[in-house]
Amino acid sequence: MSDDFFQPVSGMDLPRFAGIPTFMRLPHVPLDHARLSDVDIGLVGVPWDSGTTNRPGPRHGPRQLRDASTMIRAEHGVSGIRPFELANCADLGDVGPNPADIADSMRRITGFYEEVLAAGIRPLTAGGDHLSTLPILRAVAATGPVGLILFDSHTDLYRSYFGGTMYTHGTPFRRACEEGLLDPSRVIMIGIRGTQYDSEDRDFARAEGIRIVPIEEFHARGARDVMAEAREVAGTGATYVSYDIDFVDPAFAPGTGTPEVGGPNSFEALDVVRGLAGVNIVGADLVEVSPPFDPSGGTAYLGVSIMFELLCQMASGQRGEAA
Ligand code: MN
Ligand code: MN
Repeated sequence: MSDDFFQPVSGMDLPRFAGIPTFMRLPHVPLDHARLSDVDIGLVGVPWDSGTTNRPGPRHGPRQLRDASTMIRAEHGVSGIRPFELANCADLGDVGPNPADIADSMRRITGFYEEVLAAGIRPLTAGGDHLSTLPILRAVAATGPVGLILFDSHTDLYRSYFGGTMYTHGTPFRRACEEGLLDPSRVIMIGIRGTQYDSEDRDFARAEGIRIVPIEEFHARGARDVMAEAREVAGTGATYVSYDIDFVDPAFAPGTGTPEVGGPNSFEALDVVRGLAGVNIVGADLVEVSPPFDPSGGTAYLGVSIMFELLCQMASGQRGEAA
């Protein structure tokens, strides 16, 4: 490891409940920081939920996730991966959205990520509702379409809401396909379930060649088998990973706006991310954590545990690139 890599504050040195909370107790390195270009993986908060169609709240997600992330330690308990020694990681702070203007917020988010990418940093984001992923993809896929591995109970592929509103957290991947940000043949959506408005989203997926793994198939095959297929679909090309916390059963993740019963448990929620080994991850996010619906913080703790799994996979890739 490089001696210059930023390191998290250890709970052995300063108790976890003390100090100013940053993601995983890493230093805060804002975009105008002198060492910005030294960062390999940047953790970013997008406190924005103007795309929610039902119960709002993910605008409060990054703050609760930062607080919960003080529980994260330096070493993965199963793989032994120590991500902070494989890649230089930092908390880049929050994108400042405009809560009263969706288009302006999306411009601000894309602009922030353009700066992050220009500095050679791969982003790991804490949302925010799922519309946040669209302006991120506009920056990440600026040079060409990427693959997508989505964990979600919804496809988020609907054309529009309320008779013609094109930008909600139910439409980001429809827009991303239309804008050429995704290669549909390299998109897989895992965990889809619940009652439906109609089959319009899945009809679109079928026509575009997007692979949907419904929850019945996920439970029948198991996480390991499904993830082997996900790695095949993504291939070796640039791939974005998007994780909606409502992928997980609401018994384990009640703090979200659009829960759907019958989902994976919290162990499976982590295990699927371990199945990303070898995927060329150009960016990832964890979205839809809504603190007002789980003030106990259990959902946020699962959320940051998922973020740590994502970070381990991204940092392992960093090691591969350097070799
Ligand atoms: Mn979603
Ligand atoms: Mn969802």
